[in-house]
Amino acid sequence: ALVQRIEQRTDRTVRVVCVTKGHPPAVAASAIAAGFTDLGENYAQELRGKAELLSGAVRAGGASWHFIGRLQTNKVRLIAPVVSLWQSVDREPLAAAIAQRAPGASVLVQLDLAGLDGRGGCRPDDGAELVARCRELGLHVEGLMGVGPPGDPEHARVGFRRLVALADELGLAERSIGMSGDLDVALDEGATMLRVGSALVGPRPPRR
Ligand SMILES: *Cc1c(COP(=O)(O)O)cnc(C)c1O
Repeated sequence: ALVQRIEQRTDRTVRVVCVTKGHPPAVAASAIAAGFTDLGENYAQELRGKAELLSGAVRAGGASWHFIGRLQTNKVRLIAPVVSLWQSVDREPLAAAIAQRAPGASVLVQLDLAGLDGRGGCRPDDGAELVARCRELGLHVEGLMGVGPPGDPEHARVGFRRLVALADELGLAERSIGMSGDLDVALDEGATMLRVGSALVGPRPPRR
């Protein structure tokens, strides 16, 4: 129902990445069975475990894994075999580690739109330079990713707009903005990819 509503709201093709972080592998399996082909995870260990357990279902469903969380460079190795799109590239050493373990990988450069510690992303002013650096490293930069601030979805608009303007300037096709709480604002502002968790699969169980 949510996916239909999204399709009706825009003429663009918008990919909905189903985020099942914190949920058991069965929830990701159900998402694949329901037809989702883009699966999002935030934690390296959790992704690796699910990818191993669900490899058959992922292959059969034509699905693939997106890594969307904060990533330590020493974890790149663990998930390099299973990630199809690295959405949270926010610093040069991380880009270099990905280029080493997964040469030519597809990435998004993450911008810090909220100015909040702990959410990841490079300063928007540094985005163009990081995109250039990723390209020098041989990575395939498909676009930009950003997380809006928590709270009123309207507060996300200005950051989303800035991200889309930079993507336009750099000729980048993918704009991964919008989560459960602010996906309507993201669609208004030009999202090509939404990362939706709780609105699709319910609230996350508390992290152990
Ligand atoms: C958890 C998370 C999401 C999904 O959040 P919901 O609010 O559950 O839709 C999307 N993007 C990132 C980067 C996340 O960490």
